[in-house]
Order: sequence, then structure tokens, then C-alpha cells
Amino acid sequence: MKIFTGIPASAGVAMGKAFVYAENEIPEIPCFTITKAEIDSEWGRLQEAYAKSVEEVTALYERASREMSQEQASIFQAHLFMLEDVDFHEQIKEHLKKSLHNIEWVVWEMARKIGQELMSSPDPAFRERAVDIADVSRRIIGHLLFVENSRSSLAELDEDVILVAHNLMPSDTLVMDKSHVKGIALDEGSRTSHTAIIARAFNIPAVLGLSDFSKTIKDGEIIALNGTTGFVVLDPDSQTLAQQEDEDKRQRSQRDQLIALRELPAETTDGHRVTLKANIGLPEEAEQALHHGAEGIGLYRSEFLFLTPGKAAGEEVQYNAYSHVLNVMGNLPVTIRTVDLGGDKIIPEFLTHDEKNPLLGWRAIRMSLANPALFKVQLRAILRASVHGNARIMFPMISGIEELEQASALFDEARSECKKKGQPYAETIETGVMIEIPSAAMIADILAEKADFFSIGTNDLIQYSLAVDRGNEKVSYLGESHHPAVLRFLKRIIDAAHERGIKAAMCGELAGDPMATAILIGLGLDEFSMTASLIPQIKKIIRGTSLASCRALAAECLYGRSIAEVRAAVQKWMTDNV
Ligand code: PEP
Ligand code: MG
Repeated sequence: MKIFTGIPASAGVAMGKAFVYAENEIPEIPCFTITKAEIDSEWGRLQEAYAKSVEEVTALYERASREMSQEQASIFQAHLFMLEDVDFHEQIKEHLKKSLHNIEWVVWEMARKIGQELMSSPDPAFRERAVDIADVSRRIIGHLLFVENSRSSLAELDEDVILVAHNLMPSDTLVMDKSHVKGIALDEGSRTSHTAIIARAFNIPAVLGLSDFSKTIKDGEIIALNGTTGFVVLDPDSQTLAQQEDEDKRQRSQRDQLIALRELPAETTDGHRVTLKANIGLPEEAEQALHHGAEGIGLYRSEFLFLTPGKAAGEEVQYNAYSHVLNVMGNLPVTIRTVDLGGDKIIPEFLTHDEKNPLLGWRAIRMSLANPALFKVQLRAILRASVHGNARIMFPMISGIEELEQASALFDEARSECKKKGQPYAETIETGVMIEIPSAAMIADILAEKADFFSIGTNDLIQYSLAVDRGNEKVSYLGESHHPAVLRFLKRIIDAAHERGIKAAMCGELAGDPMATAILIGLGLDEFSMTASLIPQIKKIIRGTSLASCRALAAECLYGRSIAEVRAAVQKWMTDNV
């Protein structure tokens, strides 16, 4: 038996066989010249890789047709058409003859060229094909280089497993067969990395930041994992297994008790009412939000629609997803955040590797403003869906007033376009700003004049204000939400909102942290948005306390000189009040 300690990222316990996910990133593509005499043998290698790819995709298509939606099956069908596309074959052959380079390089170059052309098209149908081309070419190159396609094996699990990997892309977590993944253990990542967010959304216990755990474990070994404490036990003895089972039962019964609070308001003992909402990444999560008593969706991470391999979201796909969420939520508000791609949410097919600091780079609203046509596709989809409920829109990573003005201008243009086409939309759609960059926090008073609401993204605000990469486990100990600097930022933002008569919400992970609830109430936060399953627990804390005692705690914490002082004050408050 061996015990490893990582970062508890998604609560719950899990036991089972390890499935070690070997990284399937295609290594550097070799590039060398060939002679004319070698053209035929290179072409022959390509034919073999084609045949293997066709076999693989046919199997995936058949399985998807049986077990998944028509939409998912059609992705694999499109890939089959592409693999058999005579034009594509001809273009590769031509390029092979002309460039006299090895076949992997030729396929890679062709796919990139075609992909870029398609991506720059204003027609969403063409852009969707770009992602398919990238996916298909990755598969072919994988076979040429004898790289096992473990991405598809994640979708094809046939037994319950604990998924072990160095790291996962959000798209890996989307394709994996969630019914068979009972737990996740990763070398990298932190509580606020996007893999952790998805794991929590699907109630999959997860421990991240385990350093080199994935290298010390073999496929099939037995693991017991506790996503609440952060312990992972390799080859557990019978006593540990029994303890885990008891813990599992205890957690389940606690959850059942808390869910009874669903219908009750989030109100302190002295009558101060706040709103508790849910964060979602996939439309299917809206039902879960209602089940846990959410009073709306405070953050719909729309970029997840773009992360599924082989499927870029066009206007209709987006319209359907937003409409679904709005319909499920009735007249409760649904805050759709425009895409926040980039940073750690990359579309693997378009990974360019040329950004030295992706988290400080081309991300979120920066990407949207650089692609106004693509951005307006999303804005129109939101406008059209707005007739189905109470939609609000929110822009991520706003760093200054210019970006907010540009985004709002494009929203107006999208509105006129819908009007011209006779497409109905709701007359009033509130427009909010995520405050997650220190510069936005410092000029919150200016932004508040142009925004209908603020939503504080503490995951990024902490990352940028404390200079701590939220996905890097080596520095995760520094990413402290209870740092006095973070508290001062929060106070500044909330006060600026209130002085201009708008509401201050929070949708970063701190909103669902029981150790922060009282401070946030005391600072005057109006809305808390979190993973749905956390809502009952946070509501219980709120209902058991008074605004007066929260204000006293917040005032004390704001004078804290260190993280330790703030934490000690909160701990004392928790002991006295919860
Ligand atoms: C945040 O930064 O706190 C946030 C909610 O956005 P995301 O986690 O998607 O970056
Ligand atoms: Mg963010």
C-alpha cells in the first residue's frame, strides 16, 4: 500500500482499476526530404494509415449510432466522408510530388493550409469542416507515426476505471465515457483548472497535482481515491477499502440531507437575502442546477461548445444549446458568457504552440474581438435564443473600457442583423462584465457605468493578481483566495458596483468555498454562482448566520496582515458559528 497526496479537486470517493491514459499528443512531426524514387513507398505508407483510420472511425461511428445522439454519430460519419474524399487524396499526392517531403509532413502541411482557409471563411459550415479536417489528419498522422490514438480509447472504455494521466485537455474530459470514469487522478492541475471544474460538474471525484503519480502506476492496478481529502492510495489494504466505503456512505447521506434545503431562500438569520446560482459548462447541466435549488445560471461557459473534437459550434448548434438551457430554467436568469477560449482552454486541433504565455495571451474577449464575424455568430445565437427565457450576456477577460465598448458595439450590430432578418429577440438583455483582471478591478467604477452587472471571476483574478498560474501545481500553494490583497480587490469591486447601483456577483470557485461564504456576505456580495452540487452546503451556512456577524468578520479580515491571520479569523468564526 502506498499513499500519495494531491490537491482535492472534486469531492467524493472512488475505488477501482487504474486506466493510465498515455498522452497522445503527436510528437514533433519529422520533416525531411525524400527522393523521387521514394514517392511510391511514402504513398503506400499513407494508404495503410488511411485503411487503419477508416477501420477505427467506422467502429466509432457504429458505436455512436447505437449509444450516442444522432449529432455525435454524424461527426464520425463526416470523418469517414473526409477519409474517402478523392479531392483530399489528390491534393496530398500533388503536394507529395512537388515538395518531396516525407508523407507525415505533407499531410500536416496540407491539413494546416486547408484548415486555415476554412477557418477564415465567414460561413460557419466551412469553419466546422476545419475542425474535422484537423481531427482526421491527426488520426492519420498518429498511424503514420505509430502513436496510439488514446483520445478515442477514452470514449471507448468498456469497464469502470479510475482515470490516471499526466494532464487532460478539457476536450479529453468531454469525449471520455463519463459513465465508466469513477475517479480522476492527474499529475498536473489545481482546484480551479478547467479539468477540475468539469469533474465537479459531473460529480466525478478527482485529485489533481499529484506530481509524477502517472509514471509510478500501471494499467489495472487498484486505487482508492478521495477527492475530498486529496489522498490517493495505491494497492489499498482491506481496512482502507472498508474506510472508503463508510466515507462514501457518509457523504451520500449528508448530500441527501442538504438537498432538503432546496426550496428555502438563501437568507441570513437577520433577513439579508442573497441569490445562489449555478455554473454550467454543458446544456445538460441545467437540470442538475434546478435539482440543487439554483435560482438561475450565473455562468454558462459557452466555450465548452467549441471544445468537442471534430465539432465547432455554428449558429444553429449554439442557438439550440442556449435555447435548451433557457427553456429548462423557465424565467430564471441565465447568464451566457461569450467564449473564453485560449489560456488552458485550447482547441487541440488549432494548437499553434507559438504563444509563450498563453494565459497572458490571445484569450477570451481578445480572441472574440479579433474575429468579429465569429463573435457575431455567437451574439446572434444568444439574441435568437433570448425569446425562450431570461437571457443575460457577459464578456470575459475585460481589461479596460475600450474592450467593453467594442463588444457592446458588436452586440448592437448583431441585434440589427437579427432585426433585418426578421428574427425575434428579447427587448432587454442585461450585459455584464467579468471582473477577473486586476486592471478591471482597479477601474471597476468606470466599467460600472457601462455594465448592468459585474461577475467576479476569482479563478483568474487570483491568478493574475498574485502571479500564480492556476494550472501549475508547483505554485498552487500561493494561489490563496484569503490573501489580504485578494480581499481588498473584492471590496473595491463590490463597493464600485453598489455605488453605481448595479449588482455584484461572483462566479469563480471562491463563491462555492464554505471558508469564504461569511466574508463574501460581509463584503456585500449579492450573488454567488457555483457548481450546482455545492449550493445546498453554502445555503446552510448562510441560513445559520447573521449579516451582522459576517460584516464583523469581513472587517476583521480586511485588516489581516497575512493569509494566516485571515484564515485564523475565518476558522474561529466557523467554530463559533457553523
Ligand atoms: C474565473 O476566472 O473565475 C471564471 C469563473 O472563469 P473561468 O474559470 O472559466 O476562467
Ligand atoms: Mg476566468
